[in-house]
Amino acid sequence: MKSYTVSELLSQHITPNSEVEIKGWVRTFRANRFIALNDGSTLNNIQCVVDFENFDEALLKRITTGAAIHIKGDLVESQGKGQSVEIQANFVDVLGDSDPETYPIQPKKHSFEFLRENAHLRTRTNTFSAVMRLRSALSFAIHKYFNENGFYYMHAPIITGSDAEGAGEMFRVTSLDSKKPPLNEAGEVDYSKDFFGKETNLTVSGQLEAETYAMSLGKVYTFGPTFRAENSNTSRHLAEFWMIEPEVAFMDLPGNMDLAEDFMKSVIKYVLENNKEDLEFLDKRLQDEDKKKPQAERSPMTLIEKLKFVTDNNFKRVSYTEAIDILRNSKPNKKKKFKYIIDEWGADLQSEHERYLVEKHFNCPVILFDYPANIKAFYMRLNDDGKTVRAMDILFPGIGEIVGGAQREERLDVLKEKMAAINIPEEELWWYLDLRKFGTAVHSGFGLGFERLVMFATGMSNIRDVIPFPRTPQNAEF
Ligand code: ATP
Ligand code: MN
Repeated sequence: MKSYTVSELLSQHITPNSEVEIKGWVRTFRANRFIALNDGSTLNNIQCVVDFENFDEALLKRITTGAAIHIKGDLVESQGKGQSVEIQANFVDVLGDSDPETYPIQPKKHSFEFLRENAHLRTRTNTFSAVMRLRSALSFAIHKYFNENGFYYMHAPIITGSDAEGAGEMFRVTSLDSKKPPLNEAGEVDYSKDFFGKETNLTVSGQLEAETYAMSLGKVYTFGPTFRAENSNTSRHLAEFWMIEPEVAFMDLPGNMDLAEDFMKSVIKYVLENNKEDLEFLDKRLQDEDKKKPQAERSPMTLIEKLKFVTDNNFKRVSYTEAIDILRNSKPNKKKKFKYIIDEWGADLQSEHERYLVEKHFNCPVILFDYPANIKAFYMRLNDDGKTVRAMDILFPGIGEIVGGAQREERLDVLKEKMAAINIPEEELWWYLDLRKFGTAVHSGFGLGFERLVMFATGMSNIRDVIPFPRTPQNAEF
């Protein structure tokens, strides 16, 4: 007798009437006869039929929602509606009991807030198991894309000694005794006595390190955890999130846009082709939610339509300057409906503006480029106008910024000037400057927040619901 997953049993590759064995968790037990069993391998349950005459009553009582059970029996064509095959059980063993009174995941609708508090069990629901299978598929698709396109996977360090990028938003890493840290003559904490002999933090981005690898291996990408101690309690920010950062030598900004667009389309296409069941389930869930809303707030597209819309359409490329003109003349700006009114060139765009451009004005994914230098990072390539940099952000419907990238400043003198202007000591980034001293070249890259991609692909509206155990201000449970 062979052991199978539910996914294998339902795939119809198994000869009917063969003897099979399966282990999983009880979703429901109906009429003392029908067990809906799920093992996480697929959204669907397998129905296991137990003839109660053949089993001990005490055993049947232990088949409760949430219990782990082991079943052996014959795989037969199903008599009932809703499933192709079912198991006629001739052996049932309860591996782990579950108390039906206290088991949090009852067979009914739970709020996402409640499930967040039970994040250790929420993947036993259809919605969260579907989201997390999609998260897994998307990470695979990302590695697959880069692998097939000649990129090397680079592991950037998680502990970093440079705080050039994240001033004020970093988590300190220390092994000093917090009760009586060593002090220097000025009475401040003496980090030269700390584990690394200097101040260290958790990384906010692997980009600077990835650049060193691009300038030797050519095409590289990172895919790892990043940390930001920003106190923004939004539905799109986490304190710990995963970021994908490709970096490519000899690639300019238009090349960077081409790469980002092709990459985003490719990973979304992958899940459209390989994760139909989960996507259809999430799509239906969203449509049901939508029906409860007033007409005006309903989404014009279903989830799958939205994903296809991205894979089938060109991203609209618009300069920051054009975008500002559009926003300045927009209805919500004139009627002061925006929280932040746009009146001057140079303003930083907020999520409300990004979403207006994507969802109202262009109605497609947008790549904004050539931003004012002073609202972007120091390492971005200065344009000849002296006031804009070769930055690009990709904006998606429902999300706003999903990708941020740039062509990097490859000229040593310009880079030094920009660092001096914001007081980054050259000693701190000597190795980064070295790249501009020894064989410098045009190069570019971008950062994609993985959870923002998972939000887009699953239609989930809170970033806390697309990562297993979210870390946010005041919350690091589990
Ligand atoms: P935002 O304006 O949304 O805060 P950012 O400009 O700080 O984004 P970047 O520094 O360009 O973002 O980081 C690259 C990508 O990482 C962003 O496009 C976004 O997808 C993602 N990202 C940034 N901060 C967070 C966060 N706190 N939680 C989850 N994803 C994030
Ligand atoms: Mn930010």
